[in-house]
Amino acid sequence: MVQKHSLKAVFDDDLEGLLQSLGLLGDFKSQRIRCAFCGDVILWENLYSVFPDSGSVKVSCSKPSCVKALAERLAPPALQDV
Ligand SMILES: [Zn+2]
Repeated sequence: MVQKHSLKAVFDDDLEGLLQSLGLLGDFKSQRIRCAFCGDVILWENLYSVFPDSGSVKVSCSKPSCVKALAERLAPPALQDV
């Protein structure tokens, strides 16, 4: 249990630093960041991934449908044609 807690803490610290470096931390803490796929407000509890999209940065939640949508977004079938 102690190990799990410390891992979660490191995870959160890394994400906070990442959000800050991207200029998203203020909006995140104000609950103004929404999932790129379903539009839900992103909180620490449901934050799944931060990813680049068309020159901007998007955030996705941890819903199974959004995890799947993210996987498809990051590995578009069109790449197979290159
Ligand atoms: Zn979502």
